[in-house]
Amino acid sequence: MSIKPLISQIQSYNPEAEVELLERCYRFAQDAHKGQKRKSGEPYFTHCLKTAEILAELRLDTHTICSGLMHDVLEDTGITREELQVRFGANIANLVEGVTKIGQYRPNVTTATAAAVATVEDRIHRKTQAETYRKLLLATAEDMRVILIKLADRVHNMETLKFLTSEKCQRIAKETLEIYAPIAHRLGIWRIMSRLEDLAFKHLYPGEYRKVAELLDQKLVEREAYCDKMVKQIRQVLEKRGIYADVHGRTKHIYSIYQKIQKGTPFNEIRDLIGLRILVKNEADCYIALGALHQRWNYHPDRLRDWIGNPKKNGYQSLHTTILDEGKTVEIQIRTYQMHKIAEDGIAAHWSYKEGVPTSAQGRSIFANYKQILEDIQETQDSPHQFVASMKLELFQDEVYVFSPKGDLFTLPAGATVIDFAYKIHTDIGHTCVGAEVNGSIAPIRRVLENGDQVNIRTQPNAKPSRSWLSHVKTAAARNKIRLWFREKDRADALELGKKFLAAELRVSYLNARDCLNSPKLLDIAKQLNLKNLEELFIRIGNGYESATHVVSLLKPEVPEPETKPTDEVVAKRKSQGPAVQLENDIDLGMMRIMKCCNPIPGDQVVGYLTRGRGVSVHRSGCIRILDEPERLLAVKWTEKPSPKNENPPPDVYPVKILVECSDRPGMLGEITTAIAQYKVNIRCGTFQPSTVHLDATASDNLTIDVTGAEQLDKVMQGIRQLKGVQRVTRLS
Ligand code: MN
Repeated sequence: MSIKPLISQIQSYNPEAEVELLERCYRFAQDAHKGQKRKSGEPYFTHCLKTAEILAELRLDTHTICSGLMHDVLEDTGITREELQVRFGANIANLVEGVTKIGQYRPNVTTATAAAVATVEDRIHRKTQAETYRKLLLATAEDMRVILIKLADRVHNMETLKFLTSEKCQRIAKETLEIYAPIAHRLGIWRIMSRLEDLAFKHLYPGEYRKVAELLDQKLVEREAYCDKMVKQIRQVLEKRGIYADVHGRTKHIYSIYQKIQKGTPFNEIRDLIGLRILVKNEADCYIALGALHQRWNYHPDRLRDWIGNPKKNGYQSLHTTILDEGKTVEIQIRTYQMHKIAEDGIAAHWSYKEGVPTSAQGRSIFANYKQILEDIQETQDSPHQFVASMKLELFQDEVYVFSPKGDLFTLPAGATVIDFAYKIHTDIGHTCVGAEVNGSIAPIRRVLENGDQVNIRTQPNAKPSRSWLSHVKTAAARNKIRLWFREKDRADALELGKKFLAAELRVSYLNARDCLNSPKLLDIAKQLNLKNLEELFIRIGNGYESATHVVSLLKPEVPEPETKPTDEVVAKRKSQGPAVQLENDIDLGMMRIMKCCNPIPGDQVVGYLTRGRGVSVHRSGCIRILDEPERLLAVKWTEKPSPKNENPPPDVYPVKILVECSDRPGMLGEITTAIAQYKVNIRCGTFQPSTVHLDATASDNLTIDVTGAEQLDKVMQGIRQLKGVQRVTRLS
């Protein structure tokens, strides 16, 4: 082990590097870790040297690299912060201390379920821990280099992860994928982000990692040969335009390919598997090169992206175009050398290796952006899980930029789906969205949008939102609009249902549903129940807060309950004669019961209903109680009356309720009773009162009469109808 390679690497970009200081730190750290071993069996100090090398790859300042060499001395050896400060100055001591603290406060990456079952003490502990971590992140944002050292440290730890126990391995890999890789992404350090993601992916999902790697290997030779051919052709095309450029093939990292496959892109369709990169001297050459390519090859206009004129928040700049060559699609990035450095190293590319601060305005803006987002994390996070969730959401995730078919640019939070985009355009487009064409191919509504996607929302006039959408939206705006739609729909549904309940209940009572639902009497009842209007009443019934039976009872004329029951004499008579009905096909299915709900009497159209375990019940056909299950209905008919044994038997009679609505004039009641008496029909009981149901009638007569059957009942009702002043005669049961 020697410091020589590290020093020459640093000197290659920083001739003024403080070599003496670097050497002192090297020796100090090596001494401090003497005798300590990594789990791999190597001396512990190898890890410190590797960390420093990764920082040198990012071309960072001497102090940062020194701190990289010593980043573990406070944690793992007896060295104190004061000692570091005396020997190497406050700057280095602060950096090392910062890295040590970050290592101590672990973000909680456990699942929601684990958080939910945690004890109260545990939750308080985790909350404190999360809060400390948050404050720490804010504090370290003052010196970005702490994060950079931590990232370099994490890269080497991930590279040697296989030597740890599998449980620890899983935890560190998960933390890397959820916290550290996103930080690297936010800072634009692609070089580190892609390494962290691939390493974490490999440990968390070894099977999937192998599958993707194998798929890539299978076509490697073919792909490389094709790439070489394209590189040559592009060079020629550019040289003709006087542009001398570096053209080379590039590979995507495995985790990003896996993410694309997971989002539903078939492997053989992942476009940028064949990707090329063109590096030129200046910005003007980028556009000239683009023009030259478009002249020579056909290209997808909708996949053309100008990230030079419109840089991403993390500072990324490039031109992207997709050309068509012999049926293959080739994705090409064109950028300057400086842009390339930023694309690879992000914030580190803006770093002054002399002062250890951002040099350019762009660097400062990336840095300021990072700090702002850290500060935006509100103190109101009340659970560690929520804290981590919003960290991931607000701090470490990017926005995505998507285009409408007309080319208008829309910004959405990363993770936003087709539904979010549809609602962003217009509420009605959201409500009727059935899917989309994303970059020309059909995509489901839950598809997560990616940067540069061109999205054409597909709608259908009758389409409606689904509650499952709520788990597929990212934006609060879309969520609210969907919720509102359901609130209104629930209201409309309840209203319809309430009307149906009420109509059904009215039919059971043999009242005219249409008349009753529109009658002002119903509005009176609504008011009586403290409701504003009929709609409110229907909604209450539909939601089950008010029973339709109760409302109908308020609507119905009062009928004294005991008097509606058949007398003992009648019941006995019925029993002695056995059932008065039988099945049409004469098969005896046991007990048959005449149902009171509609009170069938001989001569009525009747129907049998096969109950569940209680034989057959007999209803008047059309009774509301049996309409829902036509498959259980059986044809029944009344039996012929058995021939009487003695000369003058008393006729069998059945009580029936009728309602007579008439004008309230003197003698009216007398005329009605006389009319009934003409048919030798007994009036069992009756109430005469002001009309409560129909407004055109001023009075109603509620009568229970004994009839021998439907035929006689019909005659009696006809007789009453002929009386002057009678508006309506209805059979109630
Ligand atoms: Mn370390």
